[in-house]
Order: sequence, then C-alpha cells, then structure tokens
Amino acid sequence: MNLFDSHTHIDMKHFQNDLDRVIQRARDAGLIGMVTSSISSGSFRRTIGITKKYPNFIYHSAGCSVSQLTEKEATTVIELITRYSKDIVAVGEVGLDYHWIKDSRGRSAQEPLFSKFIELAMELKLPIVIHSRKAEQRATEMLESQFSGDVLMHCFDGPPEIAKRIADNGWYITLPANFDKYRNRISSAKILPLDRVLLETDGPYLSPTPLRNEPANIKYGCEALSRVLNLSTEDVAIATTNNAKRFYRL
Ligand SMILES: [Zn+2]
Repeated sequence: MNLFDSHTHIDMKHFQNDLDRVIQRARDAGLIGMVTSSISSGSFRRTIGITKKYPNFIYHSAGCSVSQLTEKEATTVIELITRYSKDIVAVGEVGLDYHWIKDSRGRSAQEPLFSKFIELAMELKLPIVIHSRKAEQRATEMLESQFSGDVLMHCFDGPPEIAKRIADNGWYITLPANFDKYRNRISSAKILPLDRVLLETDGPYLSPTPLRNEPANIKYGCEALSRVLNLSTEDVAIATTNNAKRFYRL
C-alpha cells in the first residue's frame, strides 16, 4: 500500500536518537514519502541535513512556530526560504494561532507576519501550508483576499461552514492520524471531496498510540478515513497519496 505522511516534524529531538529506524519503519509500513515541516531557523538548518540524507523520500516544507513568532525570526526564516527555495516544496506551516494566543492585541499582531509569508509564497510560486488553530475563519479570510495558489489547511479542525468554504475554494486539508476522535474533523472528512484530503501524523504530536507519533502511524489515519467514508483502505491510500503528490508537486 502506498501511503504518504503530508506533515510531520522529523527534525525534532524526539527522533534524533533513532531517525534511521523511524524512517525504516515508515518504509516498512508502505510510505513512499513524507513532508517534514521546519518551524524555525534552527529547525530549517537541521531539516536541510535530513532531506540530503534521505533524498526522494523526505521533502521540506518551511515555516515557523506560529504562536511564538517574532518579527526578527520571521525575517530570518524568510531569508532562508528565499535562499533555498529550490530545495523546499511549500511555505508553511504559517498562519494564525488563537489557541495559545488569547488576547486580541497578540492575535492581531500575528497578521502582518502571516501576510509576509503569504506574499513570499506568491513570489516564489509555492503552495502554502496553513496552521489555523482556533483561527480558521480569520486565516481563511486573509488567504481569500491575499493569496492565489494552492492552500493546505493542515490539521484542520474548523467548523462545517469553514470546511464548506475551503471546498468551494478548491483548497486542501490534512487530517491527523487520530482525527476520528474529533467531531469537526469527521464532518470535514465528509464535506471535502476526497481529492482534496491528505493524511498527516504531525509527529511527534497527536499520537493515535500511547507512544511518540511517527510517520508509520499514517496507517491509522488511512484506516479511520476508510471507516468514515466507507471505502477500502487501499482506495483511501491511493487517493490521499496522489493528493499529496499533486499538492506538493512531487
Ligand atoms: Zn505541525
């Protein structure tokens, strides 16, 4: 079965002692590739080394940790993305976070930084991967008015009316491996056409098991989606892997 992990954080310290074994387990589980998302300038540099070590298997999407982003760090990450744009497959995750940032000043302060990354993705003609935790509506509004290109709402957990807007816009979403524990995500899986849905682990986070989440666990997401949509796991694997290849232009 050909599976694909569309969003993970393989450069994190959780994987530094046994990365080779994690990658081997992913291959053994049927993965044909994964996109790892760097979230800072340090993470960006580590990820360059990792993608060199696993060519044509690990791809790099470059963004930032949205809730902790400063102007200075955004500038550094933007410089790196510009310099290495040929080596990355998407800008992101970038976006808005209302889960960790609760005050309205802090929330609106994120918008100009998000806009810079939107502009960058437009300039470089790269697809954009969006973090929109609890901020799905505002992130959607900003993208609708500022971006034209392929959008992936990563780990999407917005309400059905935003899922419908995403479907109307022809954008993509990813569902995490444990998505069938969340009501909004189950309804999104039904609202979005299957050719717009990708699977991700977001490892080491959001584990469907009691252990650290890793790319091999994408099979749990595939099984969950096949149950929700009443399709075979084979059909879900083929569709979601094709969607990932199309979105990231692999
Ligand atoms: Zn992530």
